[in-house]
Amino acid sequence: MHETMTRRHFLAAVPATAAAGTAGLRAAALPAEKPALLGGKKVRTEPFPAWPKFDQREESALLETLHSGKWYRGYGKNVAKFEEAYAKLTGAKYCLATANGTSALFISLNALGVEPGDEVLVPPYTFVATINVVLRQHALPVFIDSDIESSQIDARKVEAAINERTRAIIPVHLGGNAADLDALLPIARKHKIALIEDACQAHLGEWRGRKLGAWGDTGCFSLQASKNLNSGEGGAILCDDEDLRERCYAFHNNGSGLKAIGAAFSYKTTGFNLRMTEFQGALLLAQMTRLEEQTRTRDENARYLTSILKEIPGIVPARMYPGCTRNAYHLYMSRYRKEQFAGLPRAKFLKALAAEGIPASGGYTPLNTQPFIKEVLQSRGYQRLFSKERLKQWEEQNQCPANDQLCEQAVWFTQNMLLGPRRDMEQIAEAIRKIQASAAELNRSGA
Ligand SMILES: *Cc1c(COP(=O)(O)O)cnc(C)c1O
Repeated sequence: MHETMTRRHFLAAVPATAAAGTAGLRAAALPAEKPALLGGKKVRTEPFPAWPKFDQREESALLETLHSGKWYRGYGKNVAKFEEAYAKLTGAKYCLATANGTSALFISLNALGVEPGDEVLVPPYTFVATINVVLRQHALPVFIDSDIESSQIDARKVEAAINERTRAIIPVHLGGNAADLDALLPIARKHKIALIEDACQAHLGEWRGRKLGAWGDTGCFSLQASKNLNSGEGGAILCDDEDLRERCYAFHNNGSGLKAIGAAFSYKTTGFNLRMTEFQGALLLAQMTRLEEQTRTRDENARYLTSILKEIPGIVPARMYPGCTRNAYHLYMSRYRKEQFAGLPRAKFLKALAAEGIPASGGYTPLNTQPFIKEVLQSRGYQRLFSKERLKQWEEQNQCPANDQLCEQAVWFTQNMLLGPRRDMEQIAEAIRKIQASAAELNRSGA
């Protein structure tokens, strides 16, 4: 409270450019400062914090593994230690480390019995892997529109899409913000369909005080280089059911489970090799020592950024549902309303922002209308698995108007930008204000 009042008072007393401490006090009546895109001075010249962060901890963990000669999880202990530590950290009963997040999702589909010819409910606003695993399972991805305010799957539109072939739903906790689990879990339970949380961007995020990824039948994480916890490549599955864990393990280990079933080379099921290496396990154990503190820093900075952006009309931070007690902020997601920026197109806004030294992304393109999906559905296999009527109906119903709009408006900042001092947040806001003040001029220019 005290902090908010101090900041308001501060912002009221000085122009926005001075709030960041770069320009000093200026009279409010001066004309807008020249945007960097048109040759003016940049708001920010230093880069944002580098990612990943590492030091001696990672170096010695990797060298130790190297010298041990135990590079495979069957020989060493790093992967098993990581699994134990990540399960403990997230409050899940079991954790299975995997080769990557894509395989965590693929293993989940297989372990939960999703088969060719089944249907799976998915959001159109996610990384493409969420959809690819469904297609590689030869199941039908049925797209549920986005809630434009939160950038998450619109839980209000889920139930109408369920039919007798629906076997699973994959809500994605996009950007580390949470999908509406209060609405989704009862629907899955009622219709007896599996709920697979795609928590690939949501390490240490929480719903009602319990970690994201620990709520569904399984929760899947990516530990790929860009993610908030990473080992270059890597993934993890959380689950509470011992039998399900055994099925996941077997599928990721060429069909051999943890529980011996007689002689060596005897198999429980079919599967792949989707195991994590001991090097990844070593790196993750070291990286995990930083995760809580980094998550706290991102959260504090993001909250502060939200409080300043609130005062800029036309930049709308993504809404969090009341159940989201901690946002993991893999992305800081917002929407850009060009009406408030003299009609300046988003692409040009992003370009002007980058010129000020603030890199931002326009986010995903709509997945439901990607031509490759229609091609897959027209393939021989899909034509055998699904009736002509069902595929025709799929096409007619495959409309996500809110998501189309979201894809046109989104503006994202990446997680590493939230790891520095508060001043970095002020510079982001300052750059946006500066562009807004000269939006008409930017719009007219050919830059
Ligand atoms: C990163 C990501 C994946 C895939 O994870 P990989 O480790 O790259 O295979 C899946 N879903 C979402 C939402 C992601 O962000």
